[in-house]
Amino acid sequence: MRIVFATSEANPYIKSGGLADVLGSLPKALVQKGHECIVVLPKYQDMKLAETLEYVASYDIWVGWRKCYCGVFTAKHDGVTYYFIDNEQYFRRPGLYGYDDDNERFAFFDFAVLELMSHVDIKPDILHLHDWQTAMIATLYKERYAYYEYYQGIKIVFTIHNIAYQGKCDPKLLSDHFGLDNYLYYNGNCRNDGCFNMMKAAIYYSDVVTTVSPTYAQEILTDSFGEGLQSILQMRRHDLYGILNGIDYETINPSTDPEIVEHFDMTTVDEKKVNNKTALQAECGLPVNPDVPLIGIVTRLTWQKGLDLIIDRMDELMKRDVQVVILGAGDQKYEEPLKAMAAYHTQKLSLNLKYDFGLSCRIYAGCDMFLMPSLFEPCGLSQMMSLRYGTIPLVRETGGLKDSVEPYNEFENTGMGFSFTNYNAHEMMDIIDYALRIYADKEKWQGLVHRAMEAKLDWDKSADAYLKVFNSLLD
Ligand code: ADP
Repeated sequence: MRIVFATSEANPYIKSGGLADVLGSLPKALVQKGHECIVVLPKYQDMKLAETLEYVASYDIWVGWRKCYCGVFTAKHDGVTYYFIDNEQYFRRPGLYGYDDDNERFAFFDFAVLELMSHVDIKPDILHLHDWQTAMIATLYKERYAYYEYYQGIKIVFTIHNIAYQGKCDPKLLSDHFGLDNYLYYNGNCRNDGCFNMMKAAIYYSDVVTTVSPTYAQEILTDSFGEGLQSILQMRRHDLYGILNGIDYETINPSTDPEIVEHFDMTTVDEKKVNNKTALQAECGLPVNPDVPLIGIVTRLTWQKGLDLIIDRMDELMKRDVQVVILGAGDQKYEEPLKAMAAYHTQKLSLNLKYDFGLSCRIYAGCDMFLMPSLFEPCGLSQMMSLRYGTIPLVRETGGLKDSVEPYNEFENTGMGFSFTNYNAHEMMDIIDYALRIYADKEKWQGLVHRAMEAKLDWDKSADAYLKVFNSLLD
């Protein structure tokens, strides 16, 4: 099977969040199962491994009424072929998103992906789209490209990584950016709640819609989580699948991770993990003490991630015998109160307001617990990384957190994390206190750590689940 993935980010080239992790590991897992995978992404200014890219071709394409230069570069990594779409006007800027013309930039990219197929002859069996940035490819394909002989027969899969970002915009952009008729707005195909909505259009036009955990697939059918798209999702519910993301066990590996101080595996975790803990304490300016429970947080600082609960309970938490390391970047709204707290609790709270891959690895490896009380969490990768490093996740039971963290049962000695149900600061605090009580019992805690490290959350099972969906479309 040939699968083309269209995405706005992918490891190892460019990353702003979990989407890049998924696009870095799902194609690789499918290649290992004997399929051909091609990933198409924009050629950003801040791209890593830029020196490995080779020029392939250039031509002009139309984006609405605009004639645009489209350059194509390629590279191969882990058996996956990558194509990079070059246009300096759109992508030679710092970062990935957050510009006023993001809609136009990704309209260009959407056309470029479709044009690339015929220009370099990579017609796929499955075209796999991800989030709003590539959502309009489904509409462009079904309303326009599928009528050309070359393009016929491609099946479209759209994956929702986060329904909070939908690509909502002015109805005028449908014709201006995409050259499509306005009737697609008026007949509702591309309309939601008075806006042109790219994600709505993809849910309507794709052959199958997937999202990144079984629980999130259920949640987005409801008014509480559907973000206004619950009706169209209910309409498509028989074509909606929840497939839990995995993580790449080769690169996320405490026995080889070059970023951490002391390597360990299941057999050595009880003696060696603590050296990562003391090194992390020293690095973060906290008193070095192997016995005090150390709680880590690695996150984008946004409302989704439960920061309101964390900030609400921080002073209370600081009354316990604990240390907390936070690594995060994002909303100033959260940065300011956290800064004030860190300035006050200097001996217990280390605040690192930045994006730092190396430090994130050392937090996963060095902490005892990892706190992730998300308001909603489509899948979440951080809790899986924590488990891989024997760091016990404390999570709210939502989305992929619920699907990947089996709660501890002290009577049966099962489970590898702690979880609470309602988005409530007191419930979160109760579960932290419970975890701290169990931490004091060394034997029970070691049992948890071992079960965490035994959890199999790699891509093998998830890649098979995607293949099952892809195959169902090709029969
Ligand atoms: P989301 O994609 O919603 O941000 P995920 O848990 O799915 O959340 O993935 C987040 C990824 O980004 C993880 O790999 C996490 O380690 C990483 N990450 C988040 N914030 C930071 C940060 N400040 N520094 C380094 N890595 C971070």
